[in-house]
Amino acid sequence: MKLSLVVPCYNEAESVNLFLDAVIADFDGCGYDYEVIFVNDGSRDTTLFQLKKLYAAKKCPTKVLSFSRNFGKEAAIYAGMREAVGEYVSLIDADLQQRPAIVRNMVQILESKPEIDVVAAYQDRRGEGKVLSFFKKSFYSLINKLSTVKLQPDASDFRTFRRCVAEDLLNMAEYHRFSKGLFAWVGYETEFIPYTAAERVAGTTKWSFRKLFNYAIDGIIGFSTAPLRLATYLGGFSALAAFLYLLWVVFEKLAFGIDIPGYATIIVLILALGALQLICIGIIGEYVGRTFEQSKQRPICLVKEKLGCDE
Ligand code: UDP
Ligand code: MG
Repeated sequence: MKLSLVVPCYNEAESVNLFLDAVIADFDGCGYDYEVIFVNDGSRDTTLFQLKKLYAAKKCPTKVLSFSRNFGKEAAIYAGMREAVGEYVSLIDADLQQRPAIVRNMVQILESKPEIDVVAAYQDRRGEGKVLSFFKKSFYSLINKLSTVKLQPDASDFRTFRRCVAEDLLNMAEYHRFSKGLFAWVGYETEFIPYTAAERVAGTTKWSFRKLFNYAIDGIIGFSTAPLRLATYLGGFSALAAFLYLLWVVFEKLAFGIDIPGYATIIVLILALGALQLICIGIIGEYVGRTFEQSKQRPICLVKEKLGCDE
């Protein structure tokens, strides 16, 4: 088996058929074996039914995994990669925004350049609004400043790995899987190729602004401890400010005597310091919470049904 395509699917009933047809058309005459691994991530529509039909139709080697509930795209990628047996492993969305023909290109690059281990596609043009664009740009510049791993802006998880890279990714058993960070963390020689995301063939995007925002926080917490240091800096800064203010108060008393009751100052200081402490506790809490979740060592996902996988 040359290539395994891992396809996370969440409510993609209308897309999966079109997706598989596109794969078969685009890989027609490629001259090597490939398999398609669909992971049904707890869809609430008829995705699983459609996938079972596709599996039964046997248009090409197909595997189907179905989760017991929605565990998220990262978990679906993880489970699909676990079942992949190909020499190369590709991650691709089910909605045909990422054309299977590009995967064929990626394989070609890996075949012709032995020094390259990963081919990653980045979006050369983004069809999204200015506000979202701005937030995404800020996120990348922030995480690249804070973290030791460097993320390529706009690179998606539309990638093809050599087997060894895929296995290293599977060996990272973290519960909060921020793929972009994991890909950067494992390193290896990566070639970036541009692609333009097409329109979704059917269905709607599963990423709301809130989900993206939480995902960004996951990325920063997962790949940097700089926010923890922020607490130390804030504490140091407040202590310095307090000391300077103390000097001023003493000077004021000696020079002018006390004639200001100082009620407003006290209230503002109490509120500001309280807020500062809460922010720092919140930051520490984010890390403690993740440590807690990881320490429970729960599985990343639960696979309820498997079709076409060797036991
Ligand atoms: N997806 C998933 N689980 C989720 C959300 C999304 O498996 O909880 C899949 C989805 O079916 C699709 C891919 O991840 O194949 C990308 O999702 P989507 O197209 O909604 O994201 P976008 O392309 O808008 O960034
Ligand atoms: Mg999409």
